[in-house]
Amino acid sequence: MNVISDKMVYLDHAATTGVDPRVLDVMLPFWKERYGNPSSLYRLGRDAAKAVNGARETIASILAANPREIIFTSCGSESDNLALRGVLLARQAAGKGNHIITTPIEHHAVGHTASQLASKSGFELTVVPVDKYGLVDPQAVADAIRDDTALISIMYANNEVGSIQPIKKIGKIIAEINKKEEHPIYFHTDAVQAANWLELNVADLGIHLLTLSGHKIYGPKGVGILYVKEGTPIMPLIYGGDQEWKLRAGTENTAGIVGMGAAISQIRHSKVNTLEMLKLKDKLIKGVLTNVRGSKLNGPKKAEDQLPNIANFSFLGVEGESLVISLDQEGFAVSTGSACTSTALLPSHVLIAMGLIELDAHSSLRISLGKYTTIAEIDQFIKILPKVIEKLRKISGR
Ligand code: PLP
Repeated sequence: MNVISDKMVYLDHAATTGVDPRVLDVMLPFWKERYGNPSSLYRLGRDAAKAVNGARETIASILAANPREIIFTSCGSESDNLALRGVLLARQAAGKGNHIITTPIEHHAVGHTASQLASKSGFELTVVPVDKYGLVDPQAVADAIRDDTALISIMYANNEVGSIQPIKKIGKIIAEINKKEEHPIYFHTDAVQAANWLELNVADLGIHLLTLSGHKIYGPKGVGILYVKEGTPIMPLIYGGDQEWKLRAGTENTAGIVGMGAAISQIRHSKVNTLEMLKLKDKLIKGVLTNVRGSKLNGPKKAEDQLPNIANFSFLGVEGESLVISLDQEGFAVSTGSACTSTALLPSHVLIAMGLIELDAHSSLRISLGKYTTIAEIDQFIKILPKVIEKLRKISGR
């Protein structure tokens, strides 16, 4: 029998989050009566422009940035693309730098963009390795810097294992080098997963570009932000109108932008309690490791190196995808680190970069908690998981 027949236990908040009802409330008027185009000169348009700029100011204040430095995009992936392509192509056009540094655990919006720029646009790419906990060493980044390094892109926190990268330390290293060098190195961080939990003060972090996405912070899908520090050379990806200071043409997604502003305010001001979340995650980890034989945890060991809501496990002899489908039948929404493509089932690039063998990477499961997750849900999960795993092992004869 299905334990939770009419209610799904949602444990996949790193994939997306539901819109906070308070965020939805502030968005709705912009689809109904306040539907003006922010570029229109009459009152309805001016009202929309005011709402867009209000959201911009809210976000800028949370990032301790200037509103002029906030660019609205359609998603985190677009922001990552704009950061990498925009800065690198601008640097290349000026003949100032041809080298990119990144890590092997980036989201594909960064990783695939960097590879594509290297293979098709003549950039040189250095991928600085991570250790077995999914952490990059700031010294290794420093060692990879060359005279022609134009951009360094390192994520703030990883979406599969939750490892938090030493962004502030790397920012300091880059700032020191930039004091002496004629051509500055620009530093981008993808803060999509970090935004719910970590400091976002761009000056403190020492970064020039920062990516955020609405749907990971209880805001809407279809909206993202790229913070671009004043003076950073950058070219648009989308040409057309003058929106976003000619850096991102296209009529603004007013409702989405207003929702993004409200979502980021919510997560900052009614802060999801990190300690409470850590307690829940701790309970989950202990429960899984003690109740499921042949299970192990992937990711950082120290609390300060990990997001409080992501736990990644490998289960000996179990296919991650089969586990996700079986758990779905039991009413749990979770995900695996593996990525399906049409031709092959690839193991997670993050887990492989951390040194896992393919078999362990294929048997991984990511649980990501959210602000509505309860102890009762964790208890239900811990109760069901061992049974599902044993069943799958029996079927596969392992
Ligand atoms: N960066 C990270 C770290 C992510 O986890 C995601 C989404 O999974 C993205 C970027 C892409 O964001 P979006 O879905 O808004 O394009």
